[in-house]
Amino acid sequence: MSPFRSHMQAALDQARAAAARGEVPVGAVVVAPDGRVVGAAGNRTRELNDPTAHAEVLALRAACAAAGSERLPGHDLYVTLEPCPMCASAIGQARIARLYYGAADPKSGGVAHGPRIYDHPQSHHVPEVYDGIRAAEAEVLLKTFFAARRG
Ligand SMILES: [Zn+2]
Repeated sequence: MSPFRSHMQAALDQARAAAARGEVPVGAVVVAPDGRVVGAAGNRTRELNDPTAHAEVLALRAACAAAGSERLPGHDLYVTLEPCPMCASAIGQARIARLYYGAADPKSGGVAHGPRIYDHPQSHHVPEVYDGIRAAEAEVLLKTFFAARRG
């Protein structure tokens, strides 16, 4: 068992790169049980013309491709923003062990807000959830991005 090391910095870097591409600044990384980063992505919904191309989904796809499996037991996922219902469900389907997220998302989140996916009896796998990890930095990224778009 390797000592705990937060990978939220890598997720924040992915969020910044997404903002630079004109995408909503959300970033995610998937970490294998041995501590290797096996998936890292930011939002690419506009670039790919794909409403499912959220950071979490893209990071899960990369990690599953690396693992050669549709499931990622023992893996951790770090994401800068509370996952939406679609991503929360995908994270459960992938059997992610631990979910670490940054800012809360009262408007579109699906973990602590809205449908609260993991509280639902249809959730067959529920990850351990740790919220508020470097939330202030994630919030600044989002606020700056949307303020610039309004300006
Ligand atoms: Zn999502």
